[in-house]
Amino acid sequence: MKKLKLHWQIFIAMGLGVGFALLFGEKSLIAAPLGDIFMRLLKMVIVPLIFTSITVGVAGLGDGRSLGRLGSKTLAYYFLTSIIAILIGLTLTNLIRPGVGVQISGETANFDVTQLKTPDSLGDILIRMVPTNPVKAAADGDMLALIFFAIIFGYGITCMTGKPREFLLKLFDALFQAMMKITAGIIMLAPIGVFGLITKAVATAGFDLFRAVGLYMLTIAIGLTLHLIIVLPTLFFLFTRINPLKHFRGMASAMAMAFSTSSSGATLPVTLDCVENKIGVSNKVSSFVLPLGATINMDGTALYECAGVLFIAQALGFDLSFAQQFVVVITAFLASVGAAGIPSAGLVMIFIVLDAVGLGSHPQVGFLVGTMLAVDRPLDMYRTMVNVFSDSVGAVAIAKSEGETELYTSS
Ligand code: ASP
Repeated sequence: MKKLKLHWQIFIAMGLGVGFALLFGEKSLIAAPLGDIFMRLLKMVIVPLIFTSITVGVAGLGDGRSLGRLGSKTLAYYFLTSIIAILIGLTLTNLIRPGVGVQISGETANFDVTQLKTPDSLGDILIRMVPTNPVKAAADGDMLALIFFAIIFGYGITCMTGKPREFLLKLFDALFQAMMKITAGIIMLAPIGVFGLITKAVATAGFDLFRAVGLYMLTIAIGLTLHLIIVLPTLFFLFTRINPLKHFRGMASAMAMAFSTSSSGATLPVTLDCVENKIGVSNKVSSFVLPLGATINMDGTALYECAGVLFIAQALGFDLSFAQQFVVVITAFLASVGAAGIPSAGLVMIFIVLDAVGLGSHPQVGFLVGTMLAVDRPLDMYRTMVNVFSDSVGAVAIAKSEGETELYTSS
């Protein structure tokens, strides 16, 4: 008998999780530890995986010129897709106007907003990108700082010659391969983990509020869908001349994983596996583009930041001017870059955008953001899937532009 493909196993696990949660309500939370353990396993590999993968990727580039070329292509792609996503969010929120007439009171939004840590300013994020202690950055899971150090370290290796350089290249490549093997083992547990994650998500959802802000959720869902099934596939085709359906097929497991974990970071091991092993992008490109993407390229989050802030402004009765909307576009982009690849990170970053247009300290903002937090899980799942998909499109587009042709031969 042919074994069911992993993404089908994951989809079935999702369905079972939903059914289990609906059937047993709170009692179904007995399955939650399965999801927690699975998330911990994924997180366990992230730091060594990111570090070895970027070091190998950058060291494998050979010199600073190639690093500059790959780096600028990657950043250009990430900027392009994020801005398009934001413009979709901007247009839809102006057309649908989901915030107009929304009544949010303290009773309907009885959530503790203080659990949201207000983010640092954008300037701080840039400064903190440089770690004073790389080991601490790794221990704190500070991905941007870790990536910064790994790039510098990989570049350091390219500046060496002879035996020491060979040795380090071999060593880090072997470590990276070991991490990928462990990852492959963890991925096999995905159906069980996803069952636990989805059960918990459904069993703890407060469905009543979903109705109050249904239009807001719909607006974001439509925007994410347009970006996922029209914009990104079109860009994919323009860059690669390959049928985008092949790409969707190759990425199915990573997308299912992004959806169930709500974390681009936790999905990264699976994204790397799909892009390298199923799609066939070289390790050189994927190990540089994907970890960077999981940390700074978040199209779904960018769209969400913009639409979310306009929603809040509408609900508070403000009509943002053109200039203010422009500020929203720029800060939404920066907030998406600064957002960590973890659940609900995008929602926390919304304060940065709100501050930029002077709404951050409005007395009603707490209730609104609290309500958005209460209904955030499904939106977070969807935007994370879009975030991960965009990273993968970037990896293939860049691989193509680097002359790679052996793509999609095994899927
Ligand atoms: N959960 C998202 C991610 O990991 C970030 C967000 O909250 O928008 O990609």
